[in-house]
Amino acid sequence: MNIAIIGSGISGLSSAWYASKAGHQVSVFEKDVRFGGHAIELSIPFKGKKVAVNPGYDLCNKVVYPKYVNLLEELGLDIQPCEFSYSYRNLQDCESEDERTKTLPAFQKAANLKQFFRPDFLRLALTTFKLSKKIDQFVAETNKKNISFYSFLQDANVPQDLIDSFFVPVSARPWGVRATDMRDMPVTVILDWINKLQIFTPRPSQMYKNTGGVKHYIDTFVTSLREQGVSLQSHAEVSKIIRVNNQVRIHFSDGHVKEFDGVVIASNAKVAMTLLDRPTADEQRIFSLFRYQKNNVIVHSDERVMPKEKNKWRYFNIVYNPANHETFSTMWFGIDKDLPVFSTNSREMPFKPEKIHAEFRFEQPIFDQNTVMAQSLLAGIQGDNNTWFSGVYCQGHGHHESGVESGHRVAKSIDARSKIRSAEKREMNAEEVCVS
Ligand SMILES: Cc1cc2nc3c(=O)[nH]c(=O)nc-3n(C[C@H](O)[C@H](O)[C@H](O)COP(=O)(O)OP(=O)(O)OC[C@H]3O[C@@H](n4cnc5c(N)ncnc54)[C@H](O)[C@@H]3O)c2cc1C
Repeated sequence: MNIAIIGSGISGLSSAWYASKAGHQVSVFEKDVRFGGHAIELSIPFKGKKVAVNPGYDLCNKVVYPKYVNLLEELGLDIQPCEFSYSYRNLQDCESEDERTKTLPAFQKAANLKQFFRPDFLRLALTTFKLSKKIDQFVAETNKKNISFYSFLQDANVPQDLIDSFFVPVSARPWGVRATDMRDMPVTVILDWINKLQIFTPRPSQMYKNTGGVKHYIDTFVTSLREQGVSLQSHAEVSKIIRVNNQVRIHFSDGHVKEFDGVVIASNAKVAMTLLDRPTADEQRIFSLFRYQKNNVIVHSDERVMPKEKNKWRYFNIVYNPANHETFSTMWFGIDKDLPVFSTNSREMPFKPEKIHAEFRFEQPIFDQNTVMAQSLLAGIQGDNNTWFSGVYCQGHGHHESGVESGHRVAKSIDARSKIRSAEKREMNAEEVCVS
């Protein structure tokens, strides 16, 4: 089949990879000037050195990302272990917003022995230990699936103040959602993730980065796709998708139109619905269930967002503000070179303008019960009207692994449809022969 893929994030590129491997003719259209979607790499010059910053995708892990790691291997790419340490700060605990000495290196590496024996740290450590046992037990059971993460923590007898001030906001971070949205997140989504990463244990799973960096990974992916015969076009914004007569017409912003046997929409769910001309009732119903949260990411060198004492700086520095239930975190990208280059996912901090290097606005899916329902309904309409949807919102946890999984499933579905089409064509040809 001749397939158009809209979007070149991990979901679009994976769809292209698996569909082209199955022998389909694939063209990828990306509206941006660069490929990769959220997978961005910046090179920030600082004191004669350069620091690589990855504001929209940074880490992966062999346990939680098996398909992604396999795909990297197929592409001849490698990953390498990296720092994954935390600091945590609750603004309410501090005497003032500027008092940052109460940073709690929650799970690992207590900054010093004195800190380790603080009663609040010991209480948290004990609760964390008990919770990790409950998580093991819960994951092993299958009968209690349909509750929220918040209810799970309450059922697990985690003290209310620690639920509100620590476990919910810290867990919210990997999804970039507010603590309030995290409370409603289905426990099935989050516990699988927490359990595999062993986040609430003294020894979280090792995290990895792409060897050679994120840009190298995307460049290699694009080159390999081209070698496999895939056409990739950047600066090609799709404005409308019209499905007619068993074909798909793709309209571009510059006015030209191309026709394909099928389309994979690998943008986010919100964009997908704006592109489709006359979406079906099923499409409208399912896509109305996906919700997104805006995520501002500021790349900067403003040290004021970090713990006051430098020996408490970690790779991930989480701050929870109970006043508005916001959690924001700062990744210390300059950690290897001991340079103050950070990325913070909040505009809330009054950054010094001269310290800001770049700013990004991402949208991330919110994983709630509606999303889980929409994901299962979506599987039922994949391929209808020669239209497939690929994206991290389509299944799983919403990270790179979901993008690869989504691309893989879509390619399998395209292949199945192609076989049906070929059989239908053979039947029609046979009928024509009989008639003549
Ligand atoms: C701050 C932050 C940190 C993150 N960190 C991690 C991490 O460490 N590990 C991890 O696994 N995940 C991480 N994620 C999540 C992950 O990066 C993204 O969810 C994932 O990359 C999204 O992939 P995608 O292909 O589904 O969508 P996207 O990457 O959004 O790709 C969609 C593409 O479609 C294109 N597009 C949209 N409209 C059109 C159009 N009309 N015409 C043509 N093209 C169009 C867009 O330009 C874009 O390139 C992070 C997310 C954020 C926000």
